[in-house]
Amino acid sequence: MTQPAIEAVQPQVKTLNSRSLEDLDSGRLESLDAREILTWAVENYHPNLALQCSFGNPEGLVILDMLQGIEPSARVFTLDTGRLHQATYDLIDRVRDRYDVAVEVVMPDSQQVASMVRDHGMNLFYESLEKRQLCCRLRKVEPSRRYLADLDAYVTGLRRGDIVTRQDTRKVEIDADGRLVKINPLVDWSSDDVWRYVREHGVPVNRLHAQGFPSVGCGPCTRAVKPGDDVRSGRWWWENPDTKECGLHVDEEADGSGI
Ligand code: SF4
Repeated sequence: MTQPAIEAVQPQVKTLNSRSLEDLDSGRLESLDAREILTWAVENYHPNLALQCSFGNPEGLVILDMLQGIEPSARVFTLDTGRLHQATYDLIDRVRDRYDVAVEVVMPDSQQVASMVRDHGMNLFYESLEKRQLCCRLRKVEPSRRYLADLDAYVTGLRRGDIVTRQDTRKVEIDADGRLVKINPLVDWSSDDVWRYVREHGVPVNRLHAQGFPSVGCGPCTRAVKPGDDVRSGRWWWENPDTKECGLHVDEEADGSGI
């Protein structure tokens, strides 16, 4: 996805101080490694900065591990859609204990979810793309926007190698709505790089990865895959591959990060 030009969105990003704007414009940040990017982010935006971690992909946990070494009070949030695997809830508690970090758990609006379920049923996502996107919007996109409204910047675990729509992702960019600074420290990492860091640093990860889940999202919408299969085949497997985004990291209104 092509991000809006810095000049076009600059007036809306109230928190871009002259130094960070200069860094963005110069392209200097693209040459920094992940730890340097996170250090830059903390220096410029903490405490109005948070890591968005799904606890369903190793990338977010690698960043959390790095971030704890840079700023132990850095904020971490996750979206509890209400349909997550028990393994994910267990991992959130393991991470709280391991790092002594107060993970902020963001939940959907209960009345909106109740209304959606009343109108379309518990498992509407299997019925059509529109209904799946409605569910993702109410359970993920809107809660995320509500939480991010109080921040100046946020960190994601996006990698360019994830899917074709992320090929243009930069290490630091302006969010699609032109208000937030979005920081993607692992954007040029490979999956092997991520797992090497997990092993070398003993980073806790979701136990379902060991059962064949490349990423662990909501229970009804993620599954294990066979060795060699496309990793995205474990998510929304009944849909066209081109539609496989939940909306947290794409431009359109109704469609995130591996959450
Ligand atoms: S991944 Fe599935 S259950 Fe989770 S919010 Fe999206 S459609 Fe709903």
